[in-house]
Amino acid sequence: MQYDIAIVGGGATGLGVALDAAARGLRVVLIDSHDFAKGTSSRSTKLVHGGVRYLAQGNIALVQEALQERTLVLGNAPYAAQPLAFVMPTYRWWEVPFYGAGLKMYDLLAGRAGLGRTELLSRQETLSHLPTLRAKGLTGGVKYWDGQFNDARFAVALARTAAKQGALLVNYCRATELSYQAGKLVGLTCEDQLSGARYPLRSRCIVNATGVWVDELRQRDVLAMNGPMGRQTQPMVVPSQGVHMVVDREFLDSDVALMVPKTADGRVLFAVPWLGKVILGTTDTPRSDLDREPQAFEDEIEFILKESARYLRRAPTRDDVKSLWVGLRPLVKIAENKDRKTRELSREHTILISRSGLVTVTGGKWTTYRAMAEDVLKKCWQGRLIAATRSRPPGFTPKTGENFGQISVKRMESYKLLLYKTTC
Ligand SMILES: Cc1cc2nc3c(=O)[nH]c(=O)nc-3n(C[C@H](O)[C@H](O)[C@H](O)COP(=O)(O)OP(=O)(O)OC[C@H]3O[C@@H](n4cnc5c(N)ncnc54)[C@H](O)[C@@H]3O)c2cc1C
Repeated sequence: MQYDIAIVGGGATGLGVALDAAARGLRVVLIDSHDFAKGTSSRSTKLVHGGVRYLAQGNIALVQEALQERTLVLGNAPYAAQPLAFVMPTYRWWEVPFYGAGLKMYDLLAGRAGLGRTELLSRQETLSHLPTLRAKGLTGGVKYWDGQFNDARFAVALARTAAKQGALLVNYCRATELSYQAGKLVGLTCEDQLSGARYPLRSRCIVNATGVWVDELRQRDVLAMNGPMGRQTQPMVVPSQGVHMVVDREFLDSDVALMVPKTADGRVLFAVPWLGKVILGTTDTPRSDLDREPQAFEDEIEFILKESARYLRRAPTRDDVKSLWVGLRPLVKIAENKDRKTRELSREHTILISRSGLVTVTGGKWTTYRAMAEDVLKKCWQGRLIAATRSRPPGFTPKTGENFGQISVKRMESYKLLLYKTTC
């Protein structure tokens, strides 16, 4: 069977591309060497957010886009994503007006996609929202709204919906080799990780959506094109590790999340209610390896516990940690190389198309997976690797003059029913 598009990687990015492509009527296959979302996509902070942190960095376009995408995620899968209130406690007089103004701006950027108004809280109101907060020196707080979602469940819903739209999705199947004809990529070999059997796969377009592991396939591609003595490619990803810890609910004792905008070393820290417990995190630590099961560093655990102790009346200790998970974030190191390239600074993700036609996408965040998928398919289409669409999804009739983006958002609405049907 000849596929229109073969996607390597079944995390948020790959699954989003598979669903979007299948809904366009393309013949789609997706493979993952492990389980769907087993990589970074089940190890996130589980927030569907515009990113208050990016607002502080002045990245307005990124925040605005993520706020719009947040609405689609919440609307498409209400069983796996809900609005969540956050309180930022303040301990200095200027912090309420300072953070308050920033978060009012967040509301403004969200516009009609807003989930609730930002409120400036008195000391008493802050304590009534977060009763276990350290009261000494507290001056007040700022309450704002964002979203929370079950990342692993959402990923499975995407996979099932893509399958329902006709995509073939195979887990425990690893891409091992790429195949070429006249200098163009025409397929790959994949290996069943359970039986060891190897299968050839032919596809007009191949998307490398392997998260922090994208450089492995990129390197194979460059070696095949340039030969072993030829020019090597620069790795595009630098992994950065984030650790989350789970403690009992009593440490927060609230349905509202605590957000610390600036820890002792300038990072952001969350304490978020989650399935009857509380998630504490996260860190942001560079690491040099790409371990499939990265372990937390001792100083990361100490850091989260120490910072939590600055804000919570009763601080959790090592013995209170029920479990923890570690995720690797793909930070894109190079803005461009000599391959044909597209850097999407505004969306914080990067798409590169190599000389042979290998499409690599990495970076971004869970919240913007749909916009990333739309971008990937647009680039594949512009690069003549896929046809725009083969057929239309049921009930979908584009109007004359509608652009690619409008079409993608509309299709998302037709997925909604399928997401319900396949997961409830
Ligand atoms: C600590 C942390 C917290 C985060 N919190 C949030 C948050 O709250 N909200 C938010 O919006 N974003 C968040 N993010 C970002 C978000 O989680 C990631 O952007 C997203 O999950 C990346 O998805 P991905 O599909 O690109 O990568 P991955 O999920 O890692 O998927 C890549 C897949 O490729 C597969 N693979 C690799 N090599 C091969 C091969 N050769 N053959 C076949 N398959 C292969 C892997 O098994 C893996 O499943 C967070 C990130 C981190 C690190």
